[in-house]
Amino acid sequence: MKISTLILAALGLGIAFGILLIYGFPEAIAFLDYYLLSPLGEAFLRLIQFVVVPIVFSSLILGLTRIQNATQVGRYTLKLISSYVVTSAIAVGLGIFLAIVLKPGVGVTGFQIAEVTQMTQKQSLIDWLVSLIPVNPLEALSTGNLLQTIFSAALIGVAIQLVGDRATNFVSLIESVYFIFEKILSLILYTAPIGVFALISSAIATQGLELIVKLFVYVIGLCIGSIIMIGFYALVLFILKAKPIHFFQCFFPTLSLAFGTASSNAALPIALQNAQENYGMREDIASFAIPLGTALKRDGSAILQGFNALFIAQLYQIPLTPSLMLAIALSTFLVSFSTAGVPGAGIIMMTTVLSAAGLPVEGVALVAGVDRLTDGLKTVLNVVSNTVNAVILSHWESSSVEPTTEH
Ligand code: ASP
Repeated sequence: MKISTLILAALGLGIAFGILLIYGFPEAIAFLDYYLLSPLGEAFLRLIQFVVVPIVFSSLILGLTRIQNATQVGRYTLKLISSYVVTSAIAVGLGIFLAIVLKPGVGVTGFQIAEVTQMTQKQSLIDWLVSLIPVNPLEALSTGNLLQTIFSAALIGVAIQLVGDRATNFVSLIESVYFIFEKILSLILYTAPIGVFALISSAIATQGLELIVKLFVYVIGLCIGSIIMIGFYALVLFILKAKPIHFFQCFFPTLSLAFGTASSNAALPIALQNAQENYGMREDIASFAIPLGTALKRDGSAILQGFNALFIAQLYQIPLTPSLMLAIALSTFLVSFSTAGVPGAGIIMMTTVLSAAGLPVEGVALVAGVDRLTDGLKTVLNVVSNTVNAVILSHWESSSVEPTTEH
């Protein structure tokens, strides 16, 4: 049986098992979660993370050695950033629109809202840009910072081209690193059904159903937003004649893993594999655009932040003035680019958006309880937005993507 089918079965079984625990054995949940489900899920996430940096680093260097000149890297970056800006703005607009239409915060009562004590440290744009440069290449690799890893690999890739033959040994070493870690990834994937089962059943069993009922419009609104935006990307693929159905079939293993783990970072190595081996995306584009998108592109978070800010404004009956709307839209847009690709990262970034817009940050404690339920779909959207933007770059580079027929 194919591994993607097993992952899908694990998702279904995990959901069923989580519901069974809630209704049949509620007293066993804490014990099972602590001793079995959480450790299994965490172990799987750590295993996947084990291959992320070596695969990104080696595949990016190998991809860059195949491009003609250094200016091409700059051109890819500029094109990607411009398509990110346009599509992220659409996602922000969609989140805000849905919150205005669905009014998730109107009439929600009966909550004891806890104080939020932890605030995120704000970093200025200049500091952030400077911090993209690692002080040594090993720092980038050892801290697992994706943007720093991309920066190091891009610099090394460009230098390899400049030194020519003298880099041959290094390139074959990097090639070996790539093949070794790809093999490790394929072995790790055999454990994915167990990991996904544990993660999903733990998420379902430990989230109170009562809270979901109270925040029903909030949860459903976020799911609708993610689905509409995925539909938008399917339309983009259709317009580009990039075979949307085939795209989703090729990336199915990546998307099911994104859903199960709620982590774009965990889905990254498989996304790279699916893009090149199943979808036939050009290697230099896939190995550059997909890691960059994983580090930056979060349409799911863009929808979440705008929707959530308006939800909290509605909850506290704060009038929606044009300046408040503008503050929400702008901070949501910026924050979506700096949300980490790990489960629950959106929750941490909420305080930044709310304080930038002058809204009460206490509301975060309320929605944190249902975040894990929407995080899976949101992460699927994050991965779709990232990979479709890589397809957009392929077309922009007027190199047609030639999907393979089998996968
Ligand atoms: N879990 C999301 C991801 O990994 C990030 C978020 O929480 O918004 O893409």
